[in-house]
Amino acid sequence: MAKLLLGCIADDFTGATDLANNLVRAGMRVVQAIGVPAGPLDAEVDAVVVALKSRTIAPVEAVAQSLEALRWLQAQGAKQIYFKYCSTFDSTPQGNIGPVTEALMDALGCDFTIATPAFPDNKRTVFKGYLFAGDVLLNESGMQHHPLTPMTDPNLVRVLQAQCKRKVGLIDHAVVARGAAAISERIGQLKGEGVSIAIVDAVSNDDLLRLGPALAKMPLVTAGSGVAIGLPGNFGISPSSQASALPAAGGLRAVVSGSCSLATNRQVLDFIQRGGAALAIDPLRIAAGVDVAAEALAWAAPLIDKQPVLVYSTAEAGAVKSVQGRLGVEEAGAMVERTIAAIARGLVDQGVRQLVVAGGETSGAYVQALGIAQMQIDPGVPWCHARAEVAPEAGLHIALKSGNFGSNDFFTRAFTVLA
Ligand code: ADP
Repeated sequence: MAKLLLGCIADDFTGATDLANNLVRAGMRVVQAIGVPAGPLDAEVDAVVVALKSRTIAPVEAVAQSLEALRWLQAQGAKQIYFKYCSTFDSTPQGNIGPVTEALMDALGCDFTIATPAFPDNKRTVFKGYLFAGDVLLNESGMQHHPLTPMTDPNLVRVLQAQCKRKVGLIDHAVVARGAAAISERIGQLKGEGVSIAIVDAVSNDDLLRLGPALAKMPLVTAGSGVAIGLPGNFGISPSSQASALPAAGGLRAVVSGSCSLATNRQVLDFIQRGGAALAIDPLRIAAGVDVAAEALAWAAPLIDKQPVLVYSTAEAGAVKSVQGRLGVEEAGAMVERTIAAIARGLVDQGVRQLVVAGGETSGAYVQALGIAQMQIDPGVPWCHARAEVAPEAGLHIALKSGNFGSNDFFTRAFTVLA
């Protein structure tokens, strides 16, 4: 079997899918593993994305899980390691981007790496080290109110330095615009100044394609999913039309959403305004001991044969804050995630085979609850096909949507795209 080229470690499940998507579009054959696989790789692929749910857990635990993923990827022969985090650089003041990056550098004996969440296709750009989401700085994008990882500083050099022992520097756009040789020269300079990790500016896909060749010899790359478009070329792989087509989709359709991001709030509203069948779930009732999952499934049962249903805990920042004030941030998050995962699982038992899940943490909880082991990615759509214990024969089509991604009509259009 051919050796694995790129071994990827993603800190959440939706992000893992975004990365896999970019690699497939750039011509790589990719599978996504949910957690570190128990046995050796059993597919002929160029890249594996090991999806962890390590974004908001304690840094030591995130480091331990990431190192376990690294060991597995190394055992499969991976030539380069890619640590993938969110394109909005979601992290807590302690990490986990910094601690995981440094642990991977130590394990790989790597003296220099980059860090850039830039993903221009999804309107994430980095300029002078400042991260923009759409037309505004990160801390004005709604991310400052994120339930688990509020991002209040858009300067990534500062944000990452606060999480790292190594010195963090910047490869700015003036250098990136001059191409790979200039980037490599700048890396040499930074190393001379004692810098080990550099934030890299990128405002367009062209910037990422210029960056790619400069990363060819780096044992470790850390980034959002955008940088991935420039890497397959280093292995002599170019984009091909040989899309890894998914099996035909069947079964009933549903959306579950635990994301409270601005885009998701708009998507929920749009779905309701189009007359979609939607049910809001209330974290305070979960906390009061009501079996909210059972209620939601009873609500869905008579509707689901006729139309896609939406079950959501999505709420605006003020409402989320008030719930968190009463239940605690982590407790509220975990409680809602568990409930939504239970609802998603129940919906599959009711015959759902096409499911959109909104929210990074939420998707993580859901994919674990469904016992999904491996997902095949289609390059053109946000869908993947999952082998799952709960749907052993045909498997499941799922689309995992990160909080701030997608147009207002995403919950309607996703099914049209799949059909
Ligand atoms: P996103 O991708 O938008 O960041 P996530 O699912 O990663 O979404 O994070 C949202 C977090 O907020 C989850 O932990 C979720 O359980 C929690 N949450 C969802 N709805 C509510 C709510 N109404 N009140 C408080 N917390 C909530």
